[in-house]
Amino acid sequence: MSIASAPHRYRLVLTGPPGSGKSTQAERLAAYYGLAHLSTGQILREEVARHSTLGQQAQNFMSDGHLVPSALVNDIVAAALQRLRARGFVLDGYPRTVDQARALDGMLAEEGLSLDLAIHIELPEAVAYARLASRVVCLGCKTGYQRAELPAGTTRCPKCGGALVHRADDTPEVIHERFVVYNEMMTPVLDFYRVQSRLRTVDGDGSLDMVAERVLAALPQT
Ligand SMILES: [Zn+2]
Repeated sequence: MSIASAPHRYRLVLTGPPGSGKSTQAERLAAYYGLAHLSTGQILREEVARHSTLGQQAQNFMSDGHLVPSALVNDIVAAALQRLRARGFVLDGYPRTVDQARALDGMLAEEGLSLDLAIHIELPEAVAYARLASRVVCLGCKTGYQRAELPAGTTRCPKCGGALVHRADDTPEVIHERFVVYNEMMTPVLDFYRVQSRLRTVDGDGSLDMVAERVLAALPQT
């Protein structure tokens, strides 16, 4: 088996609606196989922090309160992939449009590579709502918790002692809106991968451990 086809060099997209825990799952999956976890938000912040040309361009849009244009996001993802492609990767928060999905295929094709799989963590809105409504977040280290996981009356983060707060935007209306936006945005992208038999759907209803097992089981066995 060549290095490029070794099972731990997966090239994956992981996606899921609000409350699906996709970023946590992406992080776990990346850790399990030693892959790079590429969160679009994080890559953007890193480029800005490095004062790279791309980062400065992105900063100009963000400081004006604008979204970073899709073409610039593509360039920033391409730069990150070039640095990290040898490790394999889990993309989190990208692609968000069919054009970006095509751009990703193009970036990989240039290196003679291809995406192994897009994994979609599926979650009914009612389940997501119940989950988000009982979620608290640490103001210090930003770790999220379910109230049920913590001893009754816990007000401080078990990791860092920071204050635990309920996110003000975890209301039924806001969560519903985020679901609508997610579905409108991602349905064409998921269809793009589905017609090419590159999509696996994983049931996101269950504990983090259960969902992590399902994600692992969805990976192609080489
Ligand atoms: Zn904390």
